[in-house]
Amino acid sequence: MSKYYYDLHVHSCLSPCGDDDMTVNNISGMAALKGLQIIALTDHNTCGNCRPFYAACRKNGLIPVAGMELTTAEEIHMVCLFEELEQAEAFDRKLREYRLPVKNKPEIFGNQLLLDENDEVIGTEPYLLPPATSLPIEEAFKLASSYGAFCFPAHIDRPSNGILGILGTLPDHPSFPVVEYSGTADIKALEDAHPDLKTKRALTDSDAHYLWDISEAENALDLPDEPYSSAFVRHQLFRYLRGELGGGNA
Ligand SMILES: [Zn+2]
Ligand SMILES: [Zn+2]
Repeated sequence: MSKYYYDLHVHSCLSPCGDDDMTVNNISGMAALKGLQIIALTDHNTCGNCRPFYAACRKNGLIPVAGMELTTAEEIHMVCLFEELEQAEAFDRKLREYRLPVKNKPEIFGNQLLLDENDEVIGTEPYLLPPATSLPIEEAFKLASSYGAFCFPAHIDRPSNGILGILGTLPDHPSFPVVEYSGTADIKALEDAHPDLKTKRALTDSDAHYLWDISEAENALDLPDEPYSSAFVRHQLFRYLRGELGGGNA
């Protein structure tokens, strides 16, 4: 068992709102400098940079997690994490059917850069990524779960795109065992207002769009890591998320 510092919600330069300096090598290099061990890439409605992100994390000795921040039809942001890169890429292809077919205007919304593992730009995503998909939250949850995703509502303390701000409460369906807070959340006040939050496992992530916003080594989980491998520890992370490990935040 060791303490693993994590940040499970970070955007790359593929998100139009993400800084162009959020390359896969810059993100993993900065995360390593900050003392993190586990980091997830969660661009808006895409996993397009997850493969080079895996390679960059390997170079920096980090444990990568492939993910996406899905926008539901209600404009709720839901983080979907995948234990396997291939699951993320398969879900990425499926989600295209549900994305809004509106062209990006880079001069207004920002670039949507696809990278290789050396941070070379190998393409751009032509359609604007962040708008609401046509999937209501229950359908989005079911579809992502069918591709192996573990899903949790993002930054629930934020009025915009946070599930509490939009629905007023956590829904019964889907039932989320894990919720995400932003670094500035007053968790105690939220738990007082929504007592069912006390029964949830809590994550605190940065939602970084700029390099300096990536979490410091502040949020950790105790995870088994013998025999050590990146895939083994990632598997333990998913066991923790699914409630299969005891314990909690370290
Ligand atoms: Zn968000
Ligand atoms: Zn985000």
